[in-house]
Amino acid sequence: MDAPHIESSWSKPDTPFEIPLRPQTLSEFLGQESVRQRLEVFIGAAKTRGEALGHCLFAGPPGLGKTTLAHIIAKSMGTQLVVTSGPAIEKAGDLAGLLTNLKKGDVLFIDEIHRLSTIAEEYLYPAMEDFSLDLMIDSGPSARSVQVKLNPFTLVGATTRSGLLSAPIRSRFLISLRLDYYDAQTLCKIIHRSASLLQVNLEEPAALEIAKRSRGTPRIGNNLLRWVRDVAQIQNHKIITLSLAQKALEMLAIDEKGLDEMDKKILSVMINHHDGGPIGLNHLAAAVGEEAHTLEEVYEPFLILQGFIRRTPRGREATTLAYKHIGANKR
Ligand code: ADP
Repeated sequence: MDAPHIESSWSKPDTPFEIPLRPQTLSEFLGQESVRQRLEVFIGAAKTRGEALGHCLFAGPPGLGKTTLAHIIAKSMGTQLVVTSGPAIEKAGDLAGLLTNLKKGDVLFIDEIHRLSTIAEEYLYPAMEDFSLDLMIDSGPSARSVQVKLNPFTLVGATTRSGLLSAPIRSRFLISLRLDYYDAQTLCKIIHRSASLLQVNLEEPAALEIAKRSRGTPRIGNNLLRWVRDVAQIQNHKIITLSLAQKALEMLAIDEKGLDEMDKKILSVMINHHDGGPIGLNHLAAAVGEEAHTLEEVYEPFLILQGFIRRTPRGREATTLAYKHIGANKR
């Protein structure tokens, strides 16, 4: 039997019918000290001046807290949050609709902002800079543009690929903050916090075990915790001990380094079918049956961080560590 798969839920938000685990305030947001400190100053100063917060850009892999920070910003400023994403904005008109409805100080959150179309992006420049919008009325010879004034708002952009953002849009963000993978200690605290919200009795070593297998990502930590809780519930355990957590996590085929079946498949394809590489991204994606951008945004950063693969100009290569990890011999 294949291991139950939970990875498809990584890039999705908390399930709406579950108890929400998203931190509501900066003090509940654990880890990422320098990001938190800078936001505290930034928000505090804007509030004292009674102004809308400057535009912020958050970069980093999925599940590290970018959307959460957008919620926290709106809450701290006492304003509304409007959520959309780059691919959802198909026409410039979509953006105009969103922008003209914003009230003073509201936060417009654009997830995956690197996937915004060039036309929508150009539309955003005057909106971000002067809070104004050039709307085209009519078409053909009678087409003309009218300028519409917008309420001062805050744009919060999130991207998993900051390198793909154009320089003009990047320069229009007042601050740009990068979220990094969390260490096991911080993840352990996040998992304890989630356990208490879910009213789960979790022993310290079990929390650490879940943390170690969470790929440095709070969303994965929370999903693994929910899985372990479900196993405990089905097996009638009141307390989650280390051995229970280990058994539950083994059912998901997540190893002690946090690698799941897809990570291992990637390494195995590289090593067993391509002599360790170099292998091009699209070729690798086709070989493992995954989208190239998912491979690049979700799997690769963690495998690179852990030292299993490296990027070279000719493609991806498996490292000696990868050979060791999957028990293969280097030829
Ligand atoms: P992203 O937008 O970067 O993909 P999210 O903000 O949606 O990630 O975070 C995913 C989930 O992880 C959140 O719902 C929240 O429960 C949890 N989370 C993220 N960062 C933290 C943190 N620093 N402290 C506690 N929980 C966090």
